[in-house]
Amino acid sequence: MEVRLILGDQLNINHSWFTDVNNEVCYVMFEMRQETDYVRHHIQKVVGFFAAMRHFARQLEKDGHTVIYYTIDDPNNLQNLSENIKKLITLVSATSFAYQLPDEYRLDQQLKSITAALTIPTTAVDTEHFLTTRTELTEFYEGKKSLVMEFFYRYMRKKHDYLMVNGQPEGGSWNYDKFNRNTWKGGTIPPPYKPNNDLVNQIYTQLQNLDLDTIGTYNKDAFLFAITRDESLAQLDYFCAHLLQDFGTYQDAMHQDETNLFHARISFSLNTKLIDPAEVIERAIDAYRADKEKISLAQIEGFVRQILGWREYIRGLYWKEMPQYKQKNELNNHGKLPAFYWTAATKMNCLKTSIQNSLDNSYAHHIQRLMITGNFALLLQTNPDEVDAWYLGIYADAVEWVQLPNTRGMSQFADGGILATKPYVSSGAYVNKMSNYCGNCSYDKKKRIGQDACPFNSLYWNFLDDKKEELRSNNRMGMMYNLLGKIKPEELANIKERAYKIMENPDAF
Ligand SMILES: Cc1cc2nc3c(=O)[nH]c(=O)nc-3n(C[C@H](O)[C@H](O)[C@H](O)COP(=O)(O)OP(=O)(O)OC[C@H]3O[C@@H](n4cnc5c(N)ncnc54)[C@H](O)[C@@H]3O)c2cc1C
Ligand code: SF4
Repeated sequence: MEVRLILGDQLNINHSWFTDVNNEVCYVMFEMRQETDYVRHHIQKVVGFFAAMRHFARQLEKDGHTVIYYTIDDPNNLQNLSENIKKLITLVSATSFAYQLPDEYRLDQQLKSITAALTIPTTAVDTEHFLTTRTELTEFYEGKKSLVMEFFYRYMRKKHDYLMVNGQPEGGSWNYDKFNRNTWKGGTIPPPYKPNNDLVNQIYTQLQNLDLDTIGTYNKDAFLFAITRDESLAQLDYFCAHLLQDFGTYQDAMHQDETNLFHARISFSLNTKLIDPAEVIERAIDAYRADKEKISLAQIEGFVRQILGWREYIRGLYWKEMPQYKQKNELNNHGKLPAFYWTAATKMNCLKTSIQNSLDNSYAHHIQRLMITGNFALLLQTNPDEVDAWYLGIYADAVEWVQLPNTRGMSQFADGGILATKPYVSSGAYVNKMSNYCGNCSYDKKKRIGQDACPFNSLYWNFLDDKKEELRSNNRMGMMYNLLGKIKPEELANIKERAYKIMENPDAF
């Protein structure tokens, strides 16, 4: 008998493991305290993962496979991967053990040490999910000075022949971002797809009997993560039919009353591998080809870039840079994350709205993550470890391989510019340009000093001033440092005084 492990984010039913039913194979799946407790997760994230895993196990059994599944409250469950594997190997008298390569370094290391200690033969196989191998990005950038994503994206477009015509990018351009920077001025947005999920309520109730320390709230109506493959595909098709046509245009927009705008909400399904990136891209391209009047090239290209470009790039970078990447703090930031990141109790409307969304839905779209919560944490000069732990816990789609480079690299510039060419920081002016938050805020978006001055403003100029050593030589920061140089010394002193007041006690703002 071979024991084959399936981790909670390895729910790929099209994996070659499952092509044939083999009575000599026993699949094992575990809900474990090891996984619920290594960081404080959002309740919807835990419910979502367990529900998706249970459905997956049921599907395998329905298809005729043998499955041993430990729920979180199963008395047989030893709550730790090593212990459970050892127990199962003895229980079924296994003669071999196999696993799919984990996407997280932490689990990769753990499985290496588990298998090293086993006395039976072991095999590690690919998850058959990504469009690149673990090392493909490393090989691609070998000998190159900069890791700019755009070059990798072009390589991927050519390699996979997506949106290509005779070896050239469709429409003559690789990137249509210049059409994709609009703000949302209001109007009708199709409601988000509501998956038909069972099990989630039952699991939520079951979890109430455990002493799990979680973030946020659970409400069946607000739970929008698809936990089966069929529902994930239905959510994707809904996106292609109703939202893709405006995806790119409003990709960077933020709005007080719109949590989802035209975003796909598919990251949970993708990261648990219920659906795979190739089918997501191909279904979206099919929708574009079927109705080019409705879905423009700028929309489809913007979407394909997220999956084929950013998602694969982030994964490759993670494997290129780990484990050192997790320790990086090139801007020497050591502050604490404000308590309001767990309560939304702040008068700053942009933060209040984005954090409340996250607490209610275990979701925020990219620009809220990058330019509101991430931006503010960086301006406060927060320790990236704290920022990572928050992002890893609060979002249902957060698995370390994708969360870490996005947070530590893209959002906190803690890698010193491996991923981003400059820090994503802004004053209130950017927030006001891309959203309607400022109109509903207690603070004045234009003021830099004074009781009612927008905290982003003083923090922004103070950040540039504090980080001169690290950032002034960055070409892309030249204009910002010119503007900083034009602020009179007495005014800068007042700005810095206000900034330090905010940094000392951000929860008072
Ligand atoms: C600080 C920070 C932390 C983040 N943490 C995560 C995370 O833990 N897990 C995660 O999946 N994404 C993360 N992202 C990327 C992005 O915000 C989410 O993928 C996206 O918001 C998911 O929602 P959606 O499915 O509606 O995406 P859409 O906006 O509809 O985009 C479609 C898909 O593109 C992919 N994508 C887009 N941008 C990225 C990106 N930068 N990196 C990787 N994939 C991308 C995702 O798979 C996403 O589902 C993070 C971004 C930032 C700035
Ligand atoms: S005024 Fe400042 S704090 Fe208020 S919403 Fe705008 S950017 Fe945020």
